[in-house]
Amino acid sequence: MSVMWDLPDFDGHEAVHFFHDVETGLRAIIALHSTHLGPGAGGTRFWHYENRETAVTDALRLSRGMSFKNAMADLPLGGGKAVILADRNRTKSPGMFAAFGRMIDSLGGRYVTAEDVGISTADMVEVSKQTNFVSGLPVSTSGDAGGDPGPFTAMGVYLGVKAAVAHKLGRNDMEDIHVAIQGVGSVGGGLARLLAKDGAKLSIADINKDHANAMAKEIGANVVGLDEIMRVEADVFSPNALGAVLDKVSIAHLNAPIVAGGANNQLATPEDGQRIFDRDILFAPDYVINSGGIINVGLEYLGEGDVDEVNRRISKIPERLTAIWEQSASSKLPSAEVADNMARSLIGRS
Ligand code: NAD
Repeated sequence: MSVMWDLPDFDGHEAVHFFHDVETGLRAIIALHSTHLGPGAGGTRFWHYENRETAVTDALRLSRGMSFKNAMADLPLGGGKAVILADRNRTKSPGMFAAFGRMIDSLGGRYVTAEDVGISTADMVEVSKQTNFVSGLPVSTSGDAGGDPGPFTAMGVYLGVKAAVAHKLGRNDMEDIHVAIQGVGSVGGGLARLLAKDGAKLSIADINKDHANAMAKEIGANVVGLDEIMRVEADVFSPNALGAVLDKVSIAHLNAPIVAGGANNQLATPEDGQRIFDRDILFAPDYVINSGGIINVGLEYLGEGDVDEVNRRISKIPERLTAIWEQSASSKLPSAEVADNMARSLIGRS
């Protein structure tokens, strides 16, 4: 019988909790990868998984990702993640989130949650009636940290894209720099608007065609096909939709010297970091460039500052990326591997 410790994605996780609430039928997994720097913080994903193994794998991978992301964002937070196993119709009820809140509370603060895929602010409000170990709640006082993390993530990605252009192309402005953006939702759309203001040339693609067309009209971008966006001849390819878009095939066809975007887990496998490096493409490790949202949510939870402090910390993303790229060049290691090594050392796992 294989157990948790034998799973390929088990990476010295401190604990993996399995919960079941008989009354509401709620099943949830809370994985704590590391609490070395502070409570394991990371959102809750509400998803219909084809089988339970996939849910466990997701919780293991995502919680490790949060350890790395929080450490590299210089937050006194560890890495954790929760997944709720939804039914096929993704049925929700306030009772489920109340039960989930009690599950979180039973961990006594070792895990702090917030929104992730499938979870609304209203769901988090239900959770917050049962536990204080929750963030991502509506902001009551204007100027406080917190609320929708999307615009903060977009700002960090924008600063990261500019840093990549400066590093790779030696340009300190974005006038006519061509950026191909995959996904123009909360993060990609925010990024597109910021880049448009700087006079960048934009190609965009989104599965929601109406949304892509409306965005193109608003900011003067060119809409391209879903299959085309990763092959557009551009200065920057910016993935802001799905994870795992960078694989053996897509990397071979990339037509841009820089990949920098907000999507989580962009590399399909660790080998793909090496493939990008071998093609001399500058890659911004996703959990470093997209940390603006967790900085906002983290400071909200920690009660450590207002929006100005959030923005001050987000403004450090470019220097973090530059340090990674410099080390990547001197050590001849892919930037993704350099970032992982830095993160591991920060959480005492090097
Ligand atoms: P979102 O749902 O607002 O936007 C995603 C957009 O991508 C949507 O417009 C969707 O139609 C589009 N899309 C989906 N599949 C596509 C495809 N195959 N091709 C082109 N477009 C496609 O989500 P978001 O909050 O903007 O998040 C985008 C990415 O950034 C995700 O990977 C998310 O995990 C990551 N991320 C988001 C935040 C945040 O603060 N929102 C923080 C860190 C990371």
